[in-house]
Amino acid sequence: MKRVAILGATGSVGEATLQVIRRHTDRFRVGVLTANRRWEALDALALEWDPEFVVLGTEPPDSFAPRWSGEWRTGPGALEDAARTRGVDLVLNALVGFAGLGPTLAALGAGKRLALANKESLVAGGELVVRALREGGGELLPVDSEHSAVHQCLDGRPVSEVARITLTASGGPFRTWPAPRLAEVQPADALSHPTWSMGSKITIDSATLANKALEVIEAHILFGLPYERIDVVVHPTSIIHSVVEFHDGSSLAQLGRPSMEIPILWALGYPERLEDRRVEPGFDPLRDGPLEFEPVREDAFPLFRAGVAAGRAGGEFPVAFNAANEVAVESFLSGRIGFQELAEVVIHTLEQFSSRPVGSVEDARQVDARARNAARESAGGMGFGNADPRAEESENTE
Ligand code: NAD
Ligand code: MG
Repeated sequence: MKRVAILGATGSVGEATLQVIRRHTDRFRVGVLTANRRWEALDALALEWDPEFVVLGTEPPDSFAPRWSGEWRTGPGALEDAARTRGVDLVLNALVGFAGLGPTLAALGAGKRLALANKESLVAGGELVVRALREGGGELLPVDSEHSAVHQCLDGRPVSEVARITLTASGGPFRTWPAPRLAEVQPADALSHPTWSMGSKITIDSATLANKALEVIEAHILFGLPYERIDVVVHPTSIIHSVVEFHDGSSLAQLGRPSMEIPILWALGYPERLEDRRVEPGFDPLRDGPLEFEPVREDAFPLFRAGVAAGRAGGEFPVAFNAANEVAVESFLSGRIGFQELAEVVIHTLEQFSSRPVGSVEDARQVDARARNAARESAGGMGFGNADPRAEESENTE
């Protein structure tokens, strides 16, 4: 029986993971659950799973009266403790944003198997994560569908046999929109994704293609491949999740209807493939074809190019890209900036950074904080008249 800590249990990936575990209670037991502000939802999950303890990222109001009588902890330190809990074998990090970095490092440092959905911690943590993995003796398994696909195609083969990998992108809801029309995009348009149902931050990142830039950096860190050997292609139906080409000219791809339950099953069961009765029907060439591909429209989606360039330049740049993008997404969702200003805020912020190495987690936190301030200032100076003051509180993470 494996004990699992689920960080971000009330989010989209967290819920999908619990859904999978409900069908495999003979193999997994939930040891810890965390949420940010959805205390009622966390309370309900705690009643269902009776973990060792639960963690809230944000202190609940005094009026909150939990029904579950076990131990409640709060704050970022408690999230890291959750990631290194004794007796937990597997940590699923489904937090959103830079908040995931501390728990990622804590889990790897404690030698856990880390099933990582939180790509931001790889982008902002970079070499720090690689070092924690090496020194802590843990194991890192990607949950992001494209990276899970690469991991499944490699299945233990050394990356020295790989010529290149190709990550697929759905292209998002504005794939075919003429560039000038993008100025009209409203948050509701950007929140409706054609193939995946996900949390709001990653849904906006998918609409701007910032998500794919984060994923290129994620692939570089996870698999140690140089950037020139990581390609991206638009594949609107999201059936092929990635392709790995080997040095002998043979390519392997992983296919499946878009469902996060498949990469979650892989990360939970690895190296075994769990038998699962509820997964999507498998790939059917007649029903799911034809499989179509297009190049990325880099001029229409400047955050893609800016993010990949930030990754290639290294040092402070990927940390600053991630932080500025988080602020830009919040600003867009609350009506403070328009869709096209998302890229302007991020690109303007990046001008204030360099490729000076980020040697410690304290450094990373400092660069992150500096980039957030710069991005907030930049977003504030956009003079966008649409701000909804009620949205000010409605941070995209609950
Ligand atoms: P979500 O917004 O639905 O859920 C985020 C979870 O993290 C929630 O449980 C929330 O309570 C918690 N959280 C957020 N901020 C927190 C903080 N500061 N402190 C403590 N807890 C906090 O997000 P999601 O769509 O499930 O995505 C989670 C991660 O997985 C992201 O990094 C995303 O890029 C990645 N991912 C998601 C999908 C998907 O299908 N949703 C696919 C691939 C990768
Ligand atoms: Mg992905």
